Amino acid sequence: MNDLIIYNTLTRKKEQFIPINYPHVGLYVCGPTVYGDPHLGHARPAITFDILYRYLQHLGYKVRYVRNITDVGHLENDADEGEDKISKKARLEQMEPMEIAQYYTFRYHDSMRLLNVKNPGIEPRASGHIIEQINMIEEILKNGYGYEVNGSVYFDVEKYNKKYNYGKLSGRILEDLIANTRDLDGQDEKKNSFDFALWKKASPGHIMRWPSPWSEGFPGWHLECSAMSTKYLGEEFDIHGGGMDLQFPHHECEIAQSTAANGKESVKYWVHNNMITINGQKMGKSLGNFINLEEFFTGSHKLLEKSYSPMTVRFFIMQAHYRSTVDFSNEALQSAEKGMARLITATETLNKLKPSDKSTVNINELKDKCYQAMNDDMNTPILISHLFDGVRIINSIDAGTESISGSDLDLLKKIYNDFVFEILGLTSEQAKGNNLAFSGVVDLMLNLRMEAKARKDFRTSDKIRNELQALGIIVKDKKDGFDWEYNG
Ligand code: ZN
Repeated sequence: MNDLIIYNTLTRKKEQFIPINYPHVGLYVCGPTVYGDPHLGHARPAITFDILYRYLQHLGYKVRYVRNITDVGHLENDADEGEDKISKKARLEQMEPMEIAQYYTFRYHDSMRLLNVKNPGIEPRASGHIIEQINMIEEILKNGYGYEVNGSVYFDVEKYNKKYNYGKLSGRILEDLIANTRDLDGQDEKKNSFDFALWKKASPGHIMRWPSPWSEGFPGWHLECSAMSTKYLGEEFDIHGGGMDLQFPHHECEIAQSTAANGKESVKYWVHNNMITINGQKMGKSLGNFINLEEFFTGSHKLLEKSYSPMTVRFFIMQAHYRSTVDFSNEALQSAEKGMARLITATETLNKLKPSDKSTVNINELKDKCYQAMNDDMNTPILISHLFDGVRIINSIDAGTESISGSDLDLLKKIYNDFVFEILGLTSEQAKGNNLAFSGVVDLMLNLRMEAKARKDFRTSDKIRNELQALGIIVKDKKDGFDWEYNG
């Protein structure tokens, strides 16, 4: 049906995408740990896998898309120590942990809606799947890959590695892990420091706790994704996605857990998006460059020269290939904003084009190139460059230097509708940095100006043009009317 090629992190190769159970596709993406405002680090995986989801659907696959909410078990560090991130926030805010999780889940949903990220088909919460996680621990224990100490259960990495390969995804070798990890202090319950928690016994002050065969406690962070992906997508499914920062330990541990419980590899294609930097620096609270999404949308952070619409952020992220890093700067965002406006304006021009008897342009070639770009591991920057080639074609037809037949014009409209709106998920109202009411008011003013001109009232017509210009609205007079652009 198609020639979609995906880079598989597990094999480190580009592979032809062949679903396990055609035409069904199982897609699991690690969602947010809900204890803080959504930021760029949330936007990139959400947008990357939104495009994959949209494209698979466009190709005709029936996709079951699961993106989880982590609301328990994600501790402050990866060594299974420290406070639960949600518990800690709840303690600081004097709220229930579930109030924190709910509040930030709503905040996350609001941002995703603004970014035009589609909802997943299922959004399971870790805290709603404690029974499934306990069942999986029991399987792992039964198969001999876990051990219990004082009410906590740990995964036996060394034993697992004798039969399977721990580190295959991240490329880490167990011997190196042994050499590089600190010696266990007397307090540690684990056999080896690289073993990870499947279940932790809750300390007396720990609020989030559930009964289990081993103790009152809570599941380890990695377990939820193994348990919930198995529940909703089966023991084997097609695609597992997430940010590159999750490769180790999170995804490595997921592979180990699922394999230890089910006796086989669960994921066919592992897909990871690269990270985001701001002005060339890693994003971090201590660096003062930690900008959340709302601050981008309102321009309220001191590093931002102005506000950037959700569509500008979306378009900017898509201008880089998902496996490359993206560096955010005011300059780069402003050029993305201009580029996107040019693209959206062209889609509006396209709707006004008139067909001729024959075409002097090759629209089939443009279509093939767009599909080739997306089929080549979702190469959105190349796709966007082809769409800009198309903008030149549209503008030449509009200027009368090229012509297009009726059937080619229909095809050209379909290409822009499919790729710009359906697959890249841009929306024209937001992309223009305004809304329908705003456009309507500008059109109304410009119609009044045309009427003033018609009755030779040039004082009024110039006044309208100049004052609109002062507001950032550039008016272009045309033979049969006007056109305008907003550069606010
Ligand atoms: Zn996960």
